[in-house]
Parts: sequence; C-alpha cells; structure tokens
Amino acid sequence: MPDLWDKCREFTQAEELRQIGIYPYFRPIESEQDTEVYIDGKKYLMFGSNSYLGLTNDPRVKEAAIKAIEKYGTGNAGSRFLNGTLDIHEKLEQRLAEFTHQEDALLFSTGFQSNLGAIAPVIGPKDYILIDALDHASIIDATRLAFGKTWRFKHNDMTDLEMKLKNAPEEAGKLIVVDGVFSMEGDIAKLPEIVALAKKFNNTYVYVDDAHSLGVLGKNGRGTANHFGLDTEVSLIMGTFSKSFASLGGFVAGSKNIIEYLKHRSRALIFSASMPPASVAAVDAALDIMLKEPERIERLWEITHRMLNEFKMLGYETGTAETPIIPLVIGPLEKTFELSKALSEAGVFINPVVPPGVPEGRCLIRTSYMANHTDEQLDYLLDTFKTFGKKLGII
Ligand code: PMP
Repeated sequence: MPDLWDKCREFTQAEELRQIGIYPYFRPIESEQDTEVYIDGKKYLMFGSNSYLGLTNDPRVKEAAIKAIEKYGTGNAGSRFLNGTLDIHEKLEQRLAEFTHQEDALLFSTGFQSNLGAIAPVIGPKDYILIDALDHASIIDATRLAFGKTWRFKHNDMTDLEMKLKNAPEEAGKLIVVDGVFSMEGDIAKLPEIVALAKKFNNTYVYVDDAHSLGVLGKNGRGTANHFGLDTEVSLIMGTFSKSFASLGGFVAGSKNIIEYLKHRSRALIFSASMPPASVAAVDAALDIMLKEPERIERLWEITHRMLNEFKMLGYETGTAETPIIPLVIGPLEKTFELSKALSEAGVFINPVVPPGVPEGRCLIRTSYMANHTDEQLDYLLDTFKTFGKKLGII
C-alpha cells in the first residue's frame, strides 16, 4: 500500500518548471491590482486580471470599504444564518435582485461557494444536472455534492444538449447549468437556444453563472440573460464580486421561494461566515459606478474588438472568443511556457493555461482586459506578442 503522502512527495512538476525558470504561478504582487503592477520591484503591464471595469482601486470603492470597517469592524464572526447578517448584506441583496431583474438575491462569501451553495441543495436524488463541458470547476464540484445525476454536454453544442434532455426521464427535474461567459475560451453561452430547449422539455430550468458577464454584458453590465433579453426566462443567476465588482464574495438571484429555500437549506451559506463589511460596501460602491458610468463598459468593448481583430491579423488563433477574455491558442505545453516567460521578461503579465485547465495539446495564453487599459499599453502588448510569437515560430 502506498503511504498517504507519497502523492505529495512524488509531485515534482512545479519544481521542475521552477528549475528551468519558467514556473508562472503564485507571483506575489506588491502593488494594487491595476493595469500596471509591481512584482519583486519590477513593473508589469497587467493583462491577466478579471477586474474588467478597473474598479479595484477606485477611490470611491476604497472609501466605501474603509467607512464600512469603521462602522462595522473587520469581520462578522458568524454565518448569515446566526449572528453574521448585517443590514448592508440585506440592502445589497435587494439591489442585486433589482439589478438582475429577479425577485430576490442571496449573498455568499465567495463565488465558488455561491455555486456550491445554490446548486447542490436544489437537486434531489431523482433530478438531473446538465452541465456544459467547459463549465467552471465550482459548478463541477457542486455536482459532486448534489444527490442527483450529472450529465455533461459538449461545449455550447445544442444538438448534444437536446439529445441529453431527450434521454433524461420526462418527469425528472432537470437543471441546465452554464457559464454565461466561459472563463477560459471567452465565448458566450447560447442562451436563447438553451432557454428554448428548456421550454421544450418538461420540468427543465436554466441556471447561469455570470462571473465573467456582470459588468461586461447587458445594460450597465446586468449579465448574459439581460444581454439576450431573457431576464425572466432563467431561474437563477449567479455572480461573483471578485471580477467587475472589485471585491470578494458572490450571490445568486432568483424567485423568492427559491431564495427562501436556499437560506434554510444551503450548507455553504449556513455553515460558513458571511461576507465581511468592507467587501459588501465595496460591491455596493462598484454597483453605483456601474449604473452611473456606462462608458466604462463601452471602453471595455472597444478594447475587446480591437484586440480580437489585431491578434487575428497577427496570425494568432483566438478560438471562439468574443468577450474581454481573449485566449491565444499556442498548443504544446513547452511553447506556451516559453512564450509566457519571454512575455514576463518583457514586463507583461498574462496567464498561461495548461491541462487540466484545457485539453492536452491545446495550451493557451489567456489575456483579459480592463476598461482603464490605455491604447499605449495595448500597443505594447501587441508588439511583444508579435516579436516573441515570430521568434518562437508560433505566428
Ligand atoms: N464561476 C466562474 C465562471 C469563475 O470564473 C469563477 C472564478 N474564477 C468562479 C465561479 C468562482 O468565483 P470566486 O473566485 O469569486 O470564488
């Protein structure tokens, strides 16, 4: 029998990459999360952040967080269920319900927990969850906690989804769970077709993870359902605060009775401490800005269209990307790490994505954009990708 810790002792992959100087993870940033960051005293242009609207160091957001600490302190020392509910939690829930055009909303302490806490409790032993093959890890983990059956359909493939729906028992409850914007490929779920399929089958509903869609898609960043004019056609909208909302935490929004049920049945909610005051107040302030300054979203889209176009013209493969997440498909692992090392030496921060994040042989460099990136910063990124892409024989 192997010793319990053999797997840890035998895990050498990270150290091997460190030895040859191409290990790209856990880089400690010494400054704010902005378009420029500092690591070990060196300046990097940040093209790997999910702060799409550039609000993480907006003075108004910071001020709101500081004021909340002054009034409520640094933590809540308990879960929402018991001593950890603040008036600002409830106020934010009301605002998020209105924002997403749902009846009610419920805050969780992270986005990851929101998926665990909202999916698992609503799936009974006879129910089915249908997930897209590229759904986020937190959705996959939620299906592992749920009592029902999970079926995975091919990414954004409506024929496969329909076939799976046909194969599930007609009377069984079926929840289709998709990312609104897929976090690695940067494409958008085919929500109109998904909603139409849900209507075609008995007892079938839709759940959208809008982690990368809020602040990006829809009016004032209301998300994927709003983008397609389907606000009332989805049962639950989930969002995180770690991206456009410049904070940490998450929520789900839906009908009053689903939210009421989750409040009393969701283990990730009941048995975990609530969002701290500073995080709640930061989201509230970021939401004000999203409503008042739609020009940020317009700029984000201007950047997105420019970068998609220019990367294609350079000869990079961007797959199905259509949002501020733009992956550049490199292919082999070594080439991906070589390019990311060259970019890093040139002062560019990006995220290499390798298996299990992507299928074997389809490694990519994930770039993501912020509304406050300047044209000069974008020019520099394109220049470095051009230089090193050519040097390494990628383009
Ligand atoms: N869903 C998706 C699609 C995500 O990309 C993420 C975070 N990367 C999460 C959920 C989890 O959110 P958080 O990081 O706020 O816990």
